[in-house]
Amino acid sequence: MKKVVVTPGCITCGTCAFTAPEVFEVTDVSRVKQDVDIEKNAELIKKAVARCPVQVIKIEE
Ligand code: SF4
Repeated sequence: MKKVVVTPGCITCGTCAFTAPEVFEVTDVSRVKQDVDIEKNAELIKKAVARCPVQVIKIEE
């Protein structure tokens, strides 16, 4: 996993930040935090991708 991004369409449900709090922060919309260790958080990121109700979290492998 190289990169994770939140594409437009987030409905601010908070699930990703609950699932992977080191990775996502949700204010007006969800964002990936600065300087996130993608590899260390890879499993939690995959869970967040699966749980996002509008499927706007995208992974680049
Ligand atoms: S889980 Fe999806 S919809 Fe919910 S806050 Fe995160 S990116 Fe937005």
